[in-house]
Amino acid sequence: MIRINENYLNLKASYLFSEIAKRVAAFQEKNPKTNVIKLGIGDVTRPLPRACIEAMHEAVDEMAVRSTFKGYGPEQGYAFLRDAIAENDYRSRGADISAEEIFISDGAKCDTANIQEIFASDIRVAIPDPVYPVYLDTNVMAGRAGSLLDGRYGNILYLESTRENGFVPELPSEKADLIYLCFPNNPTGAAITKDRLAQWVEYARENRALILYDAAYEAFIRDEALPRTIYEIPGAREVAIEFRSFSKTAGFTGTRCAFTVVPKDCAAFDASGARHLLHGLWNRRQTTKFNGVSYPVQKAARAVYTEEGKKEVASLIDYYLKNAGHIRSEMAGFGFECAGGDNSPYIWVHTRTDSWEFFDLLLEKAGVVCTPGAGFGRCGQGYVRISAFNDFENVREAMERIGQAL
Ligand code: PLP
Repeated sequence: MIRINENYLNLKASYLFSEIAKRVAAFQEKNPKTNVIKLGIGDVTRPLPRACIEAMHEAVDEMAVRSTFKGYGPEQGYAFLRDAIAENDYRSRGADISAEEIFISDGAKCDTANIQEIFASDIRVAIPDPVYPVYLDTNVMAGRAGSLLDGRYGNILYLESTRENGFVPELPSEKADLIYLCFPNNPTGAAITKDRLAQWVEYARENRALILYDAAYEAFIRDEALPRTIYEIPGAREVAIEFRSFSKTAGFTGTRCAFTVVPKDCAAFDASGARHLLHGLWNRRQTTKFNGVSYPVQKAARAVYTEEGKKEVASLIDYYLKNAGHIRSEMAGFGFECAGGDNSPYIWVHTRTDSWEFFDLLLEKAGVVCTPGAGFGRCGQGYVRISAFNDFENVREAMERIGQAL
């Protein structure tokens, strides 16, 4: 008899975005003339940089000619892209990362989801709350989470991000083996300082733990004092894997390109305590299960690092940050405490009421869609996330309408 992986039955129903869609559809049916402004889902709205488009066109043309045609590429990604990443994202910031330590993929979602399969199933996993749901759900699927009681899984160590700790979780008093961190954070928009990140690196080193550092929103960091990569912290090479994406950096959400850094010093242990390098394990995993990102897409990603590409990416990010600044200052002006929005495209608004009630209020009174914080975890209750990914005119109108509604 064919049987299912019963861990899937242990997943919490993922109703956040479907429930939002349902409520928006019902509102739109009752109010067909209202132009609903969506500041909910974290998807970009601006087109790809010109430099990326041109590089992609050229690469497509190469595919049409026998002498330049490309079949399967290297599973780890083409050297032209890995070299550019190592140089521009790491070595230029004094972080000692080589091209061979970079694995190109088609998304940080898949990488943050897939990475857990190289670790044992009985390790203790620490996951932030509120959180990007992929980290938790993939550990539930793998059977690491334990039973669900009152909305929380028994074997997960929840790292609470609250206004009291500035949305940067404290080090756990219990021992964790695998620790997920995400900065700038989705959904809170919080960034982490070098000192706080150094404490996590030290914790991982002392506890023979590993940090999975999701830096998908790194390009939004404008404060030069903040770390752009975990490898700016001494000692991180042995205890951290970093995830990055071109999705929010250069508008690649529909084009798909990202990368994961697994330093060659990074290790984990077997049951006997023997040390194993994770670079080899991840390489084996990728070469077995993944056949690489398409050549034109990698060429487009490479163009992000040209002079023209850098300028265009900076102006894309500036555009969204201007939206974010406007949202934050308006919401603060309406009397709400806000986090994020300065080094992040997300503004985390303390509503002081139930997240869904506030969501309904904005939808019904202002025709504006946000994301209820409770959908990201227990600590998200009493908050909503407002996203800066939209056109400035829409953002300005949304804030005017919210002002009138309140
Ligand atoms: N990590 C975080 C924290 C995200 O918010 C997202 C997307 O919203 C991703 C990863 C996924 O990135 P990608 O588009 O590269 O799969």
